[in-house]
Amino acid sequence: MAILDFMGVDRHGVNAIDVCGKTLLLTETGGGTAVHLTAESATAEPGQGAVPDYYFEESGGGTSALKHNYDKAALVEPRWSEKTLCGRQWVSMASGEGSLLHEFDQHEVFAPTCKRCLSLMDNLFPAPTPDDRLKLVVQVVADLVLEHGYAEIHAVPGDQQSALRAQVRSAVRKRSGHGTKTHVCKSMVIFVCDEIYDQHADEHDRDAGEAMERVMEAAATGGEIVPIRPREWRTSWDAWSIG
Ligand SMILES: [Zn+2]
Repeated sequence: MAILDFMGVDRHGVNAIDVCGKTLLLTETGGGTAVHLTAESATAEPGQGAVPDYYFEESGGGTSALKHNYDKAALVEPRWSEKTLCGRQWVSMASGEGSLLHEFDQHEVFAPTCKRCLSLMDNLFPAPTPDDRLKLVVQVVADLVLEHGYAEIHAVPGDQQSALRAQVRSAVRKRSGHGTKTHVCKSMVIFVCDEIYDQHADEHDRDAGEAMERVMEAAATGGEIVPIRPREWRTSWDAWSIG
């Protein structure tokens, strides 16, 4: 976040990260070396400056880099919450691109390390809105799992995957009493219910046998491997759009 001042000098603003449009300040407390996150103050009251005013005083311990490389107005602007996301009081933002801020600082920091702050960061963002087709897709996929012990769905949007996995698992459990394992590979989600899958072992063996025959045939004739039957346990999110 470099800002050109009136002298044309490149100055740095606050050391913050942007997450989904929210600005979070990288902050340090008096004790410990963890780097925390601090959100902007939610109240109308003035909050805390990214750097305490006294850092700029003669005996405040601020480095010459603080005075020359950073934009003082941006750093002292009282826009931050007085507590870190994990509830601690904090002293200053961590040193950033403009070099070390204070004589006690050891190094520049560009990412948070406090695990609690990192996990709380997720809670700042509202849960994704369920897609209109989620309910229908859950039903379709749960039916496939109940029938075959296995289902595969392609092109699932990232923000719908966790709801889809949870709701299919609970639908299968409700109707069969069995648990379902889920695997995600990019936009594809796979559901496996071992108990139901085992009940169809013969069918799967037959499918595997047929597949092998086709592979041998293709190898012998140099032709393409053609699926005999459509894979009825495979579906796609796009196939269920609601007009
Ligand atoms: Zn923290």
